[in-house]
Amino acid sequence: MSVTDFLRQCPLLLESDILSLSSKFWVSQNKLIDRELALKHKVSPKAGLVLQRLMDMVLFADLQQFSQQAQLKPNELQAILGFLNSIGALRVSRNSQLHTVQVLLWHALHGVFYAPICRRKPATPLAVAEGCLRASLSFTVASFACATLLCLSGAFAWFSIGSFCAIFTATFLLSLTLHELAHGYFARAPQESQPVVLQVGTRLSLLHQPLHWPQEIASSITGPLVGVITCLGAALLWQQFISIFWQSCLLGILSITHAGALFPQYSDGKSLATALKERKCLK
Ligand SMILES: [Zn+2]
Repeated sequence: MSVTDFLRQCPLLLESDILSLSSKFWVSQNKLIDRELALKHKVSPKAGLVLQRLMDMVLFADLQQFSQQAQLKPNELQAILGFLNSIGALRVSRNSQLHTVQVLLWHALHGVFYAPICRRKPATPLAVAEGCLRASLSFTVASFACATLLCLSGAFAWFSIGSFCAIFTATFLLSLTLHELAHGYFARAPQESQPVVLQVGTRLSLLHQPLHWPQEIASSITGPLVGVITCLGAALLWQQFISIFWQSCLLGILSITHAGALFPQYSDGKSLATALKERKCLK
């Protein structure tokens, strides 16, 4: 990612916020060591000074002063904090959530939006399912809103559309969870470290050590494939037992959300393209 991308990853920070590095990280000789994923990130000497300072808790106002003394520009400090946030390494504790909401709303009114503070946890099946539940929250709300409108219009009975809506959102959630667990399976197998779930607001990412190209290809294809099979399986079962064709079609259409992840501009497609390139280079 570029410096600009890291700037966009920087969350809203208030002068009264207390910042620190997550306990899963360590700084040594201009290297940020991710102990959880057994990874080392090389950083510039100036960034190294800021990271050293963040090994203890520090007031954001003091960190700004410290970085000025280290001749770091404000946007360079934001890029460092954005990088830390993008890998779930930044800890922020603040006193007033209400004040934060007020500032966020005020800035949003002026067209300024911030990245959420990212959290990471070991990628257990439960943590993946919980992350997928959060990630699919807006989809669930939209589905139930559509169902309510259909009922209010008198076109469908409450029970009929309500039960389908519940199955529809449950299928989406299950397929999303199995999709991510399939990625997690390949990321876990040959590694010294376990993958972690990174919750970015309502979005979910799986962080792991770089994979060798055969595992990367397998992971990139298997995740979407498992998602597609889950959705098509649910569509077939619905057709078999309930026999409402348009509802089965809607369940089947959910599989597009997984197949679409293989387009080169999306995460799985990008990983697949990179792994195929690496394979060609090694030939
Ligand atoms: Zn995927």
